[in-house]
Amino acid sequence: MATLDLNQVSKSFGAAKVLHDINLAIEDKEFVVFVGPSGCGKSTLLRIIAGLEEATTGSIIINGEDVSTAHPVDRGISMVFQSYALYPHLTVYENIAFPLRVQKLPKPELEEAVARAADILQLTDKLQLKPGQLSGGQRQRVAIGRSIVRNPKIFLFDEPLSNLDAALRGDMRVELSQLHKQLDATMVYVTHDQIEAMTMADRIVVLKDGRVEQFGSPMDLYHHPATRFVASFIGQPN
Ligand code: ADP
Ligand code: MG
Repeated sequence: MATLDLNQVSKSFGAAKVLHDINLAIEDKEFVVFVGPSGCGKSTLLRIIAGLEEATTGSIIINGEDVSTAHPVDRGISMVFQSYALYPHLTVYENIAFPLRVQKLPKPELEEAVARAADILQLTDKLQLKPGQLSGGQRQRVAIGRSIVRNPKIFLFDEPLSNLDAALRGDMRVELSQLHKQLDATMVYVTHDQIEAMTMADRIVVLKDGRVEQFGSPMDLYHHPATRFVASFIGQPN
């Protein structure tokens, strides 16, 4: 299980303050979407949660434990990026197995973990292919497979579908929602796409200029927008 709390998280790059006192309590197994316009601080916030960037102030709490200074590998978090860099010369199997080889996991456990990830992502018959022989959607699934094998408590996704065409994006949304149910994991998903947010989220965090405008269910945001910005961004008429 994994709860994720952000307490008074702020971030400055030099004189530019890009995140302002972010407070969020994300529950175990929630699918939370961070949505907001380009440049509002979504990726920076995700990178701070993952430990790839240090917060200027505030703390990151996982299951009640302060991990603010913990190494990224020790946080039990896996992050899937928009530009999924697969190794072109390695098979799908080896791409998925890669994080486990780095960890020097024994072979039987490694094979079992890869087989499970491939099964969940419907890649079992693609394991011997190279990334160049796959479609865009299949490649994205391999990238997700690589994050599943380490059995993380929390998944972070930074606009993972934005390189895919519209039809495939729709399919992948459904697949990711199913994956969330199958894995019983806590997921934080970043997008600038309101439709993705409204269709996938248990709860949505609307960010604007590095501040939380509102945190609530899609229906909350739609029927009771806290600000004019939320109302216009979520697309409620008038
Ligand atoms: P989003 O993901 O919502 O598009 P980002 O988190 O990437 O937004 O960026 C938020 C703001 O922080 C932007 O103004 C961006 O230019 C700035 N920023 C992000 N990373 C850095 C960095 N390493 N150095 C300086 N400014 C940065
Ligand atoms: Mg971004």
